Amino acid sequence: MDLVIAGGKRIAARATPRADLGIRRGRIVTVGRISRAERRRAGRTIDARGCLVLPGGVDPHVHFDLTIGPGMTTADDFGSGSRAALAGGVTTFIDYTTPEPDQTPLQAFGARRALADRASAADYNLHNVLVAWRPAWRADLAALVRRGAPSVKLFMIYRDRGWQADDGMLFEVMEHCRALGVTVCLHAENDALIETLTRRARARPGASAAELAMARPPLVEEEAAVRAITLAEATGARLHLVHLSTAGAARAVGLARSLGLPVSGETCPQYLALTRRKLSGRSGHLFGCCPVLRDACHCEGLLEALGAGWLDAVSTDHCCFTRAQKDTWDGDFTRIPYGLPGVETSLCLTWTLGPAAGKLSLARWQYLHTEGPSRLFGLHPRKGSLTPGAEADVVVWDPEARRRIRARDLQTDTDWSPYEGRWVSGLARHVLLRGREVAREGRYTGGEARGRYVPRKRARR
Ligand SMILES: [Zn+2]
Repeated sequence: MDLVIAGGKRIAARATPRADLGIRRGRIVTVGRISRAERRRAGRTIDARGCLVLPGGVDPHVHFDLTIGPGMTTADDFGSGSRAALAGGVTTFIDYTTPEPDQTPLQAFGARRALADRASAADYNLHNVLVAWRPAWRADLAALVRRGAPSVKLFMIYRDRGWQADDGMLFEVMEHCRALGVTVCLHAENDALIETLTRRARARPGASAAELAMARPPLVEEEAAVRAITLAEATGARLHLVHLSTAGAARAVGLARSLGLPVSGETCPQYLALTRRKLSGRSGHLFGCCPVLRDACHCEGLLEALGAGWLDAVSTDHCCFTRAQKDTWDGDFTRIPYGLPGVETSLCLTWTLGPAAGKLSLARWQYLHTEGPSRLFGLHPRKGSLTPGAEADVVVWDPEARRRIRARDLQTDTDWSPYEGRWVSGLARHVLLRGREVAREGRYTGGEARGRYVPRKRARR
């Protein structure tokens, strides 16, 4: 062993037994008691007394280095974004390809990998975005499966940007994905309803950022989620609904699962911790994101859905812009660069709202950030697991630490936080990536980037 994490507790189904962790050459070799003599022989010991020892977090939905328009590239690139992830306890993330109009899925994948390989400090993989479909691309999807990226992402919205998968395209892609064992990730919202309601909202005098929520009510997501599940059932495709923001859509996923359909869903901390009241007032536009923030009843409903097993993962949809970038909205709520930072504060927010508030069990909380997403996306047991043989991505989590979130303390490259001043509990005291310490007390300490692309397996249905 070259490293021992001693004296911490592991989260098991109904208990938190003491568990030392032995690590050799970047992998976990022992989970359980490690004698003092063995500890002495190990190169280094991390004292984890008073802390929980978790697998590194897996965030299956982030956007680093994403350009959404002229001058509008996310504040975080793969470097700063991955360092922020590690500081918060997330050791593996899945980003998205960004295909140009003339690029095949395979070319888009190659281009994105080149960017991430150079800069990422954390381990990562990519979902393949499809904003169009050509029959010849089926061979690309098969090649992407072989390269360890067996998932696509489509949008039911953004007709105006030319990115929309209408029901026909969705049906056809789902058929191919079913045959190839590719998971279909989907942004489910009803585009036609958004267009109509946006037109109405813009016509109201003095339309403000708060109108964003009027233009995209819960119905917009709930209807689309049910339609997507219906199409998935008809084609047999494996469907994953990203960033769910409504209790109704989460319930639809739960119902589909209870019927044995291969459907899953995720939600994000912002939909648990923030309500649409944030959109009112002078800085309301900073909180513009897509899907939009909801009423408190949806925050509660989503937390219950996480506890009930309807949703299997917490992601963040990390997509951050600076104040100056957000300020370009110029009073028009349709021009806000949508997105919020999240990857760095994800674990502490859900810890605070979940286990610390008695609303989620320890085991469920851990699952939603680790084993849940790693199983959904074919990374298990290499990632998201503390069993011998797994890569030694480990978080030493102090459940008692309390602090206030301040943008200036965060590693992310944006200059504000949607959670500014908020008290949270839970802190990643030590974060290890493949046995190497990369963050300490919420600060990145890993030096030059050494993240790796981690190939994924096809998810079992
Ligand atoms: Zn997203």
